[in-house]
Amino acid sequence: MKAVTWQGKRDVRVEEVPDPKIQEPTDAVIRVTSSGLCGSDLHLYEVLTPFMTPGDILGHEPMGIVEEVGPEVPDLRPGDRVVVPFQIACGHCYMCGSGLQTQCETTQVTGEGMGAALFGYTRLYGAVPGGQAEYLRVPQAHYGPIKVPEGPPDDRFVYLSDVLPTAWQAVAYAGVPQGGTVAVLGLGPIGDMACRVAQVKGAGRVFGIDLVPERLRRARERGVETYDLRSFDSEKELVAALQDETDGRGPDAVIDAVGTEAHGSAIAKLVQQGAAIMPRKLSGPMAERFSVDRLAALYTAIDLVRRGGTLSLVGVYGGMADPMPMLTLFDKQIQMRMGQANVRRWSDDILTYLTDEDPLGVQDFATHHVPLTDAPHAYEMFQKKQDGAVKVLMRP
Ligand code: NAD
Ligand code: ZN
Ligand code: ZN
Repeated sequence: MKAVTWQGKRDVRVEEVPDPKIQEPTDAVIRVTSSGLCGSDLHLYEVLTPFMTPGDILGHEPMGIVEEVGPEVPDLRPGDRVVVPFQIACGHCYMCGSGLQTQCETTQVTGEGMGAALFGYTRLYGAVPGGQAEYLRVPQAHYGPIKVPEGPPDDRFVYLSDVLPTAWQAVAYAGVPQGGTVAVLGLGPIGDMACRVAQVKGAGRVFGIDLVPERLRRARERGVETYDLRSFDSEKELVAALQDETDGRGPDAVIDAVGTEAHGSAIAKLVQQGAAIMPRKLSGPMAERFSVDRLAALYTAIDLVRRGGTLSLVGVYGGMADPMPMLTLFDKQIQMRMGQANVRRWSDDILTYLTDEDPLGVQDFATHHVPLTDAPHAYEMFQKKQDGAVKVLMRP
């Protein structure tokens, strides 16, 4: 079969690889019909290269048709249409039972690994071949795959694998009061969807912050009050602008949908052109040890949120020694929640919104549909934010 493989920094290629097979009684194999490209793939493309092995198959946002199931997958049959969550969870351990599928104790990766195994996400997360491929082996298929009805296009359901539960959890963790205010930093697929979820869940005002014009426009068209980072001389000005809109306090909650330096040269260039995405200079020994833009969005989030407010971090932070401004967090009495989305925790709730009325606008959410064989170009376009690319779906 054909699959998107990682070969080196900013080098992905579509290669011929062996077809996956059932290995465990709880496995299924699906024929992939759509597979998303995610900001998390950009971490692999650009940043997490030390953890990659050339030939690793990428992708964690697939859906498709069940081809084959193992003997211990009672609820799936060949021909079923399913969306596959990005994390692999067992459904019967303490963590899964607590709705914390990303901490699944059965699939947890030991050694240098961390939480539950993930599709297409380096040896840190189990080195499981990913779903940007024609076929995918799905471990723990008695629990993970979400059955969806025939009829509507893939675009209706495919975001259940990641974008929707991630945005959903971001908003749940933000704890926005009914009618309250929330600012979303970063309007990539995750931030854009988080704005939409906040709106349908009853936020009074949603502020969206980014520096890519098409992304700002997209959010504005759906009623988000947008702020272009390029039009502020400093982060202070941005904070003041949002305070002006919120009785001088700042928003009740801030969602950081940026995360750590995933954006490579495109963002670096905008910074050189004067974009105010560097919140503050670190001083003293910190300044020598850490580059200042490393936690740009996090620092901005901490400064933006009102006293006593909530920060919901959905962007991925991977630093082992990142400095946290503890005095500010403590003094402002900020609550923080974070982590990968627990897909099965939210998927049934989300499904009730995936209707013909399409309140979240999922059916027009993708900006690009490309054949799997165009993956190298799709990665480059998405990373560089060219051609209005926000969400790219690949079709094997
Ligand atoms: P993306 O890279 O397309 O979006 C990030 C956006 O942030 C871009 O539009 C960029 O212009 C903007 N940006 C960069 N610096 C900024 C700053 N300082 N302030 C405001 N905006 C800034 O990626 P995405 O697919 O939307 O994913 C966003 C983040 O969420 C990534 O870190 C990704 O790894 C993470 N993610 C987490 C989960 C989870 O389970 N928690 C799941 C999926 C993705
Ligand atoms: Zn993803
Ligand atoms: Zn489990």
